[in-house]
Amino acid sequence: MTAELFREDSTLRECEARITVVDATGIQLDRTVFYPQGGGQAGDAGVLCLTDGVEVRIVDTRKGAQPGEIVHLPAPDADLSALQVGTAVTARIDWQRRHRHMRFHTATHLLCALVPHPVDGCSITADYARLDFHMTEPLDKETLTQGLARLVAESHAVTHRWISEAELDANPSLVRSMSVQPPRGQGRVRVMQVEDVDLQPCGGTHVANTAEIGPVIVTKIEKKSAKTRRVVLGFAEPA
Ligand SMILES: [Zn+2]
Repeated sequence: MTAELFREDSTLRECEARITVVDATGIQLDRTVFYPQGGGQAGDAGVLCLTDGVEVRIVDTRKGAQPGEIVHLPAPDADLSALQVGTAVTARIDWQRRHRHMRFHTATHLLCALVPHPVDGCSITADYARLDFHMTEPLDKETLTQGLARLVAESHAVTHRWISEAELDANPSLVRSMSVQPPRGQGRVRVMQVEDVDLQPCGGTHVANTAEIGPVIVTKIEKKSAKTRRVVLGFAEPA
């Protein structure tokens, strides 16, 4: 089990850790700030820094084969010869990239509030975010962009708390997503709240206030199928 420091504090950029596994599948640590791909959000990239200054570049982070495992994927050309179980490292994420994930991810929660239909697909990257809504009605690009701008400008606080699985079962309407069910089996589920706007189970990383999202626009609306409308978001400022 890797301690998931990003679940309690998504603003952590680095942490001290020790290697618990290093093999052909990748590198595991006793604790990490690297978010593993999941819930539609891309995995983190960054570096593992050894005490002698050597840096191992991490290009992606995935969940492992066993529950609770987080695997840091080294660059194909990385030299892993100095890495052993027990080796101390500083694990540091590419914060610029992650912060874009957090801004887009929080924006998708705002979109959920503007489009009150079930979500049946989601993808969050550093360059765009897209949400697929299970619905037949048309959506208007300009109206949604204006709605997002309003919610960003209103500076709503974004917080998380943990609720029991029993509490979740008693409130099935909390689950907005049809394809992504909250992770089960730990007895508790993480719930994200955008004050006065949105409440749903979510394990991803978010900014602390909607104002931190900055200018975001709807770049595309697609009819993916008879019952699916895809909304694509981009940042208004250049990358
Ligand atoms: Zn979320």
